[in-house]
Amino acid sequence: MNIQGDHKYMDTKIRKLDGANMDIDLATPKDRIQWQQDKCPWNEAEASDKHKCAVKNVSICPYFCGIKYHDYVLCSYPNKNPLKGTE
Ligand code: SF4
Repeated sequence: MNIQGDHKYMDTKIRKLDGANMDIDLATPKDRIQWQQDKCPWNEAEASDKHKCAVKNVSICPYFCGIKYHDYVLCSYPNKNPLKGTE
């Protein structure tokens, strides 16, 4: 993953648009989805399903570093989010 390298495309071809109302998690039970989904490492460490990446109108996980095309969650857990303060 090279986030800095990705920014060259953002400068020329891709717009960065603020205020998305996202609903993203890696905590959906297997029997409720029909695709392969990696598990949230924070939930795995705590044997829970309470942590969600981004919840509409509610919160964004402190480890959430965004989305990489086309449906990868970028997650810094258990490390401090290196992007905090850069938005
Ligand atoms: S960003 Fe990472 S730690 Fe936070 S909810 Fe998503 S997968 Fe879990």
